[in-house]
Amino acid sequence: MPPRRLERCRWGRFGYKIMDDRRLSRADALYGCETGFQERFVELELPVVSNSPAKPAGRLPSWLKRPLPAGDFAHTRDIVKNSRVATVCQEAHCPNISQCWAKRHATFMILGDKCTRRCRFCAVQTARPDPPAEDEPARLAVAVAQLGLTHVVLTAVARDDLADEGAGHFARCVAAIREARPETTLEVLPADFHARPECIATLCEAGPELYNHNLETVGRLAPGIRPQGKYRRSLEVLRIAKQIAPHIITKSGLMVGLGETVDELHDAFADLRAVGCDVLTIGQYLQPSLEGHAPVEKYYRPEEFEVLEAYSRKLGFLSVASGPFVRSSYNAADVFEEGRRRLAYTHLHV
Ligand code: SF4
Repeated sequence: MPPRRLERCRWGRFGYKIMDDRRLSRADALYGCETGFQERFVELELPVVSNSPAKPAGRLPSWLKRPLPAGDFAHTRDIVKNSRVATVCQEAHCPNISQCWAKRHATFMILGDKCTRRCRFCAVQTARPDPPAEDEPARLAVAVAQLGLTHVVLTAVARDDLADEGAGHFARCVAAIREARPETTLEVLPADFHARPECIATLCEAGPELYNHNLETVGRLAPGIRPQGKYRRSLEVLRIAKQIAPHIITKSGLMVGLGETVDELHDAFADLRAVGCDVLTIGQYLQPSLEGHAPVEKYYRPEEFEVLEAYSRKLGFLSVASGPFVRSSYNAADVFEEGRRRLAYTHLHV
């Protein structure tokens, strides 16, 4: 595949052009070039992400408003409530909660609902956490079984107060779900464990299908957005996980709209590929509150997310989810399935 360069299209907007003069097609954007279908699809002009993000107006843009879905929201809410296990859906004020819970999807957050870190994008409260609850793995397994989840995303607050940073408890939760529902695939989304190989190994040995750790933002903005995290350390986490367990799919995600440039995003995607990251999510940052949380610098348009997806797929990610509502755990089952399918295809053709 020849390299691409930015060009101005005849309507004055910027777009991608293939060097052989073929414009980026929707097939390229959605599936990458190895499908071989691209020439049979209608070509699509895609605007490119601005390098100088505009300050958003006070109101949400139209594409960030959605009707309430029909579905069994109350059923999910009752199971979550009875389990007494926190969910990141609630604690992080996720904008997708109506959609996900109506479909009986919830992302559990173990090790309590109080975090030892204070990130400027996150709504989870910062406070001295309680000791891990001994019965949490069992309660969690019951809730997963009651919801009938076929793919579970399990996340946790950062537990810098614990000797193993919570890795052992995390692994026990994975094992409990595995025992209760052997057919369910498991995606773990832990904090960075300070990139300690022994903690990452503890979790990998529990046997999740996917190890997820978010980069969250580009290198330049990371110190201000995640004061207790580090951009390079997060990359190191993914590198170590892949080194310890090459068969486990690795995944990471970035929020956009914090003031990053498109070049910085491209660099971050390349950094993720350099440590073997397989799956990528890209979503719009939304400010959880006006107190202490970073402001939104730009609302990316849906077409701009398509451009970012097309670019990152060319870098070789097995699966990419990119859109205004994408979160690390949004449609996680579908994102994982695409990654697994394409990984199997890759193995068959090498
Ligand atoms: S996107 Fe994830 S965190 Fe948000 S509501 Fe859905 S499952 Fe919960």
